Amino acid sequence: SGTLTVSELADKLNKDSSEIIKNLLFLGVMATKNQDLDDDAIELICSEYDVEVEKEIILEDTDFDKYIEEDDPKDLKERPAVVTIMGHVDHGKTTLLDAIRQSKVTAGEAGGITQHIGAYQIEVNDKKITFLDTPGHEAFTSMRSRGAEVTDLAILVVAADDGVMPQTVEALNHAKAAEVPIIVAVNKMDKDTANPDRVMQELTEYEIIPEDWGGDTIFVPISALTNQGIDELLEMILLVAEMQELKANPNTHAFGTVIEAELDRGRGAVATLLVQNGTLHVGDSIVVGNTFGRVRAMLNDVGKRVKEAGPSTPVEITGLNEVPQAGDQFLVFADEKKARQIGEARHQQAILETRSEHTKVSLDDLFEHI
Ligand code: GDP
Ligand code: MG
Repeated sequence: SGTLTVSELADKLNKDSSEIIKNLLFLGVMATKNQDLDDDAIELICSEYDVEVEKEIILEDTDFDKYIEEDDPKDLKERPAVVTIMGHVDHGKTTLLDAIRQSKVTAGEAGGITQHIGAYQIEVNDKKITFLDTPGHEAFTSMRSRGAEVTDLAILVVAADDGVMPQTVEALNHAKAAEVPIIVAVNKMDKDTANPDRVMQELTEYEIIPEDWGGDTIFVPISALTNQGIDELLEMILLVAEMQELKANPNTHAFGTVIEAELDRGRGAVATLLVQNGTLHVGDSIVVGNTFGRVRAMLNDVGKRVKEAGPSTPVEITGLNEVPQAGDQFLVFADEKKARQIGEARHQQAILETRSEHTKVSLDDLFEHI
């Protein structure tokens, strides 16, 4: 797995290729000008010249983009939508997430839902939908994967008895900025004081206009408490998802995003991952943010052990050397050695970045006091 050719290394070191080749020979490595060098050989040569570019060379390759191959369009298959529920505090987000989850639990799983992994998947009309159980703003601010959104669709919950509130506006601005389609769930319709027309009226100010009024936003009146309108809301989610033609390649190395992570006393680092492309397997060598390891065990959203997880599937994994952070990206590598190299390099890089940030801060502080 070469990262540099002899002549590229020579350029970096400002030496002649022939000199590098001679040195390599001296170190017992036969190489030609255009030959790829492995990291060990690069390190050896660099230390010969007392050059600290060693790190720089390795760090160049910490970007996941370098290891992700473009998918052939013919390998792409339909994948479930990833949905985030947003809205003002107390408008019913948690109640709605619970109601959806309860309504679609199969009998066999009913007892299994004891744990909480930050995301879950349900099935409606033979199609899956993944719900992120994270505060909506986090799903948009920290959870971007390779510049793209983790969320495909936002449900904006607005309580019909309260109307549009500051966090409603904040939420819709996030979704708009991310160009993620919005479905409005007008909640608490069971209340005598419910006034859905007012909600619609107020949202027009933000260019969210119901279809009935000539706009293109779907509004669904619901009650998360009585389950009124939940099935219709789910059908609308499927409809919008279908129009998006969401696709992924299930037959490639998995990549995706960390939904949440923590240190468990017994199990060590535990991370909930959302697979966004490819399929994740038990035993895979993986880099997660600045951590790495092999996937030791994998649990699905109802706490069942699984061996693999395809696109749009949330799973909880163990086997990482340290605890990654929510919003970190992960990528599976073909072999353990590569994963370790990249993981360690990313860790080093993070330390260097923190250090230079500190230096910058202290310099700024200094100037402030002059
Ligand atoms: P969140 O802050 O958006 O997560 O809101 P919660 O789900 O915690 O709900 C806030 C309060 O509103 C709780 O007391 C819920 O029981 C109540 N609530 C949520 N949905 C409904 C609903 O459809 N009807 C009524 N009457 N109360 C609701
Ligand atoms: Mg809540």
